[in-house]
Amino acid sequence: MTATDYYQILGVSPNATDDEIKRSYRRLARELHPDANGGDKETEERFKEVVLAYETLRDPERRRRYDMFGPDGARGAGSGQSDPFAAAGGFGDIFEAFFGQGGFSQGQRSGPVRGADAEATLVLEFEEAVFGAARDLSVKLAMICDACEGSGARPGTHPSSCPTCGGSGEVRRIRQSILGQMVSVSACSDCGGAGQKISSPCPECRGEGRRIREHSLRVDVPAGVDDGSTLRLPGRGQAGPRGGPAGDLYVHLRVKPHSVLRRSGYDLVATQSVSMTQAALGATLSVVTLEGEESIAVAPGTQPGTVTRLRGRGVPHLQGRGRGDLLVELAVQTPTGLNEAQELLLRQLAEERGEQVAPAGEGGILGRIRSRLR
Ligand SMILES: [Zn+2]
Ligand SMILES: [Zn+2]
Repeated sequence: MTATDYYQILGVSPNATDDEIKRSYRRLARELHPDANGGDKETEERFKEVVLAYETLRDPERRRRYDMFGPDGARGAGSGQSDPFAAAGGFGDIFEAFFGQGGFSQGQRSGPVRGADAEATLVLEFEEAVFGAARDLSVKLAMICDACEGSGARPGTHPSSCPTCGGSGEVRRIRQSILGQMVSVSACSDCGGAGQKISSPCPECRGEGRRIREHSLRVDVPAGVDDGSTLRLPGRGQAGPRGGPAGDLYVHLRVKPHSVLRRSGYDLVATQSVSMTQAALGATLSVVTLEGEESIAVAPGTQPGTVTRLRGRGVPHLQGRGRGDLLVELAVQTPTGLNEAQELLLRQLAEERGEQVAPAGEGGILGRIRSRLR
């Protein structure tokens, strides 16, 4: 028994198999991870011990030397690095324990750097938004350089492998952290993550592999989009440096208002004036739809605010089939500017229906005529 018993720390017997050691380590690592313990110092120390113990016992040569000479003996063995956190393999295991298989470096492999996303605005006519349209859009974007076809190297020359990262595009750094030393993988700053360096840059793009220029593209606007909708065009944004993939282009849609029709989701709404006599006696009216004029019947005795629904005359659904409806709201107009004969007729109507109305006075037409005659 040594002063520091790695088997005890990991809670396994000195005869434990590699698998048992690994399982126990993972369980403890999860339990004791500083992120799960709000920075408790004691737990943090135990966590470090567990990692150190595991790093020693997982390596057969280190484990053998540990068994023979104790912790100090184990340090000189194996990879020769005294700190377990410097061993990249140990990290793979730590991250695997938390994020599942392949949770760390595999998902973050750098390569050519992706270009940035770009934005543009497209103003549509009302009908274009409802029925869809193919529109040409002009955007200023970083595009692949024609001269070097994106490589950034002077035509006729080729990029060479980056000496800093050996062509992998990423560098491993060891840094201090709460866990001890951590290996972090980041994009190589020498080559910008591309893995390649250019000795003789393309004169057109200065080695960038891309150039800003005015670019025209066709945008297919699907039927049913609305003001404020955004279309995402994958891979149509800024080109990446040195042949990196392009970002996305986000096209924000503005829709001009219609003179008569308003959008309410997939329905269209119109307000249609109807005179008092038409509302009372019934009539046939002509209303504006996106397909042209259509007739609607106004029933006798129609009240203000009555809504007539024209099925399928609205906006096509963005996903799937069918269209919304056109809702025509009837606004009954009270007649104004009555001439003398009209006022008399209305007064007769009121009298006939036994309805009390204001006497013809200064405000009414008869009153005004009288005052003018005075
Ligand atoms: Zn170029
Ligand atoms: Zn590099």
